[in-house]
Amino acid sequence: MDFTISPELEALRMRTRAFIDTHVIPLEAEAGNYDAYENIKLDVLETVRAKAQAAGLWAPQSPKEFGGMGLPVMAWAVMYEEANRSIFGPNALNCQAPDDGNMNVLSKVGTPAQKEKWLRPIVAGKVRSSFVMTEPHPGGGSDPSMIRTKAEKHGGKWWISGHKWFISGAAEASHFILMARTSDDPRTGLTAFLFHKDQPGWRLVRRIGNLGPEEHGGTCELIFDGLEVADEDVLMGVGDGLRMTQIRLGPARLTHCMRWLGLARRCMEIAQDYVSRREGFGIKLADRESVQIKLGDVAHQIQIGRLLTMHAAWKLDQGDKARKEVSMAKIHVADTLHRAADVAIQLNGARGYSKDTVLQWIYRWARAARIVDGASEVHSMVLARFLRQEGTDFWRWSTDGEI
Ligand SMILES: Cc1cc2nc3c(=O)[nH]c(=O)nc-3n(C[C@H](O)[C@H](O)[C@H](O)COP(=O)(O)OP(=O)(O)OC[C@H]3O[C@@H](n4cnc5c(N)ncnc54)[C@H](O)[C@@H]3O)c2cc1C
Repeated sequence: MDFTISPELEALRMRTRAFIDTHVIPLEAEAGNYDAYENIKLDVLETVRAKAQAAGLWAPQSPKEFGGMGLPVMAWAVMYEEANRSIFGPNALNCQAPDDGNMNVLSKVGTPAQKEKWLRPIVAGKVRSSFVMTEPHPGGGSDPSMIRTKAEKHGGKWWISGHKWFISGAAEASHFILMARTSDDPRTGLTAFLFHKDQPGWRLVRRIGNLGPEEHGGTCELIFDGLEVADEDVLMGVGDGLRMTQIRLGPARLTHCMRWLGLARRCMEIAQDYVSRREGFGIKLADRESVQIKLGDVAHQIQIGRLLTMHAAWKLDQGDKARKEVSMAKIHVADTLHRAADVAIQLNGARGYSKDTVLQWIYRWARAARIVDGASEVHSMVLARFLRQEGTDFWRWSTDGEI
């Protein structure tokens, strides 16, 4: 096992850190830089994105020929963690959800024509995108086999009707990847479709208010009532929807972990800074053992999360689906982010509860982590299935030449 990273990757990590410290973190302190949903205002974002592009820190997940950095998944782990030390970091570098996962899956499974049409503008930062899967009861949420949105072939085109909700970014997105049912087969019943916001046959019912802060374009409820899609805009083949989802969601869940680790580290930075300055009852907070235990606990949870995330990234780079490893990382890092924000708020006292730091922002953001892209319970269920199949081999190490 080798836990070193290359000198080039270390240099990239330090460049990312310097960029975030110099150009992004300072934006957080100015109330005028926030939009109505507590994310970075789009005009402010445009300026910082231009700087990121000029610095060569742009779209790490996408191929170079489309304007990205063409990095392997392990390098994303290093870079995204540094990027999300600022709440605005991933947006600044074009590696924010849901575009990040959409760019990655389009790079992997799109036809050359689909990549030109749908991927290139997202990588360029000219348009935003959404992934449209979750449905209200009785449709599909945790269980995708319950998806009811239907696509039927009429006169050479797919005709789509149905109801979706909690679709991140939909109020700002131009490019959409939509999951719909094309047959009742449990394995091959779903198909993925690409559509543009200007196509008729769908509408945005509402931007669903939530605990916030929100991704640009919010989380939205959508109705489809005769959206027409041509065969050329079917992503992968008819019936490949579930396979496409797995290809997208494995890395997408892991990139959440990479970003959340950056946010958790930022919480620790803010806590560390305060306890090393603040005194009470005759000594610095940092010198109290009960405070040290809190900080040491979160520090080691973060490191466990980094190892789980890096191991899963390594497996994905070897061509493995890393289902077990991604699920473990997702459960652990979601909990760790929550704990890091909670401890940092507590250690900052009233200041932690205030809007003078980004801790309250991160605390609210963290609550979605245990639900989005698979609730923690569902990931535990997946792990229990593996445990049942593999028994004690669940914990075997990979040996040379085998993943
Ligand atoms: C901020 C945010 C952004 C999102 N963005 C998107 C998006 O861009 N696109 C998209 O398609 N969806 C999106 N979602 C939806 C998200 O993926 C779903 O909320 C998630 O998959 C859970 O589905 P559900 O809400 O229908 O929960 P349900 O399936 O109704 O489950 C409710 C709860 O029941 C429990 N539960 C469910 N199954 C099990 C089980 N097997 N064992 C034990 N307990 C279980 C869990 O606690 C779960 O939270 C987003 C959600 C949020 C909060």
